[in-house]
Amino acid sequence: MDRLRRTVTGRRTPPGGSENLWVRCLRCRELNYVRELEDNLKVCVKCGYHFRLSARERVAQLLDGGEFQEWFADLAPADPLRFKTATQSYPTKLAETQRATGLVEAALCGEGKIRGHRVVLAVLDFGFLGGSMGSVVGEKVTRAIEEATRQRLPLIVVSASGGARMYEGAISLMQMAKTSAALTRLGAAGVPYFAVLTDPTTGGVTASFASLGDVTLAEPGALIGFAGPRVIEQVTRQRLPPGFQTAEFLLEHGMIDMVVPRKDLPDTLAKLLSLFPPYGRHEASR
Ligand SMILES: [Zn+2]
Repeated sequence: MDRLRRTVTGRRTPPGGSENLWVRCLRCRELNYVRELEDNLKVCVKCGYHFRLSARERVAQLLDGGEFQEWFADLAPADPLRFKTATQSYPTKLAETQRATGLVEAALCGEGKIRGHRVVLAVLDFGFLGGSMGSVVGEKVTRAIEEATRQRLPLIVVSASGGARMYEGAISLMQMAKTSAALTRLGAAGVPYFAVLTDPTTGGVTASFASLGDVTLAEPGALIGFAGPRVIEQVTRQRLPPGFQTAEFLLEHGMIDMVVPRKDLPDTLAKLLSLFPPYGRHEASR
């Protein structure tokens, strides 16, 4: 519950209300009863706004019974550049983030089932340093891809990221090539990859594995792009069209395949999995 309050920034309270019970929607500004919002998978009951989920919440929503066999959980980040800002070192920042999120890194990887279909699942957590891809996120995603290739299990990666992790400099950027190369080998082995893009998916993650799905799904209203709209407007000196870089805009322009409301994600993925035999049908019939 604490985590929910932090991530949905529901700090304002109705007159006479308790701050534990209500969350204000970031889009329509209406109040949602916390329990009702949770029951609705953290989608605003008034306007359908999709609040961001933590990686653990995402895993719990997507997989049958929330059952998840986590892999590579002990991979922890290092500080190869001895990076320091004026006020804080990277290890201090990491330790704070780990305490606040209960995660070791910004990616969770492992295995589970969706409507009976066995899958390899990797999920990024925007709450962990903006879901940024450093060496550990890149390594965990790559190992998940390699395990999917080895076991011939379909792969699903749910992205939510601000891009490469500046604290790790060029080592972060190398993860783009590493994950992309692993996906090429997955494709060559004939194993399907479904990319699920959630708010926000940007930078080096967009420029690598998030854009390489055999089928690409996105949640409604998700911001998806490489650079943000302000940067683009400053560089190009042009005004961007309304709704630019939303999931709906990208669908209209052929950049993604589907916009899928959160409540429909498991069924939609299950349907897609069953279209790629022998994986889906074979596994589901067990
Ligand atoms: Zn709303």
